Amino acid sequence: MTNIILFGPPGAGKGTQSERIIEHYGLVHLSTGDILRGEVAAETELGLKAKAIMDAGQLVGDDIVIGMIENKLNEHKGAPGFIFDGFPRTVMQAQALDALLAKRQTEIKRVLLLEVSEEELVKRLLKRAKDSGRADDNHQTILERLDVYFEKTMPVADYYGKQDKLSQVAGEGGVDEIFGRLKAQIDAAPQA
Ligand code: AMP
Repeated sequence: MTNIILFGPPGAGKGTQSERIIEHYGLVHLSTGDILRGEVAAETELGLKAKAIMDAGQLVGDDIVIGMIENKLNEHKGAPGFIFDGFPRTVMQAQALDALLAKRQTEIKRVLLLEVSEEELVKRLLKRAKDSGRADDNHQTILERLDVYFEKTMPVADYYGKQDKLSQVAGEGGVDEIFGRLKAQIDAAPQA
C-alpha cells in the first residue's frame, strides 16, 4: 500500500495537491477537515459539537478524529492506499494512526511537508475567505489556526522525522511545479 501524509500549515495547498496526488496514484483521500465540514453541514450531533471549535480555529478532540479515520479505513478495505490531509495534527493522533495502520499490516510511506512562508499563508487564507466563505477563514481565526499549527501540529513533523519519513517540499510556485516536487519525493521513497 502507498500511504502518504500531506502535511503543512493551513493554506499550504494540501487540498489542491491532494487532488493531483489522488488523480496520479489512485489513492483514497481522507481529509478530517472535509469530513468534519460534512458533519457540520448535516447538523449531526458531532457536527454541532465540532462547529464551535472549528469556528474558533481550535482542534477537535483526538478521540473524535481518530475514530473518524478508523471508520474510513474500515469503509475502504482493499484500497491501494490513502492520502491523509489535515491529519494527524497532534503527536497523539500520529501514534494512533501508526497503530491503526500496523493492525492492517501497513504503514506510512512518506510524510510530505509543504513549506510556505507565514506571510504567504495569511495572504492565501484571506483570499480563500473571499472565494469560499468558509466560516474559519477570517483574519482572527486564521492567526489562531496558525498558532495552533506551530504549537500542536509542528511536533508531528519531528515525530516522522525520527522515523526518516519526512520530506520538506517548497510549497510556493505553480501547482504543477509543486506537484512535480511532491511526486519526486513519493517515487523516491522506499516501498512501505
Ligand atoms: P482543515 O480543513 O484541515 O484546515 O480543518 C478545519 C478545522 O477542522 C480545523 O481548524 C480544526 O478545527 C478541525 N480539524 C480538522 N482536522 C483535524 C484534526 N486532525 N484534529 C483536530 N481538529 C481537526
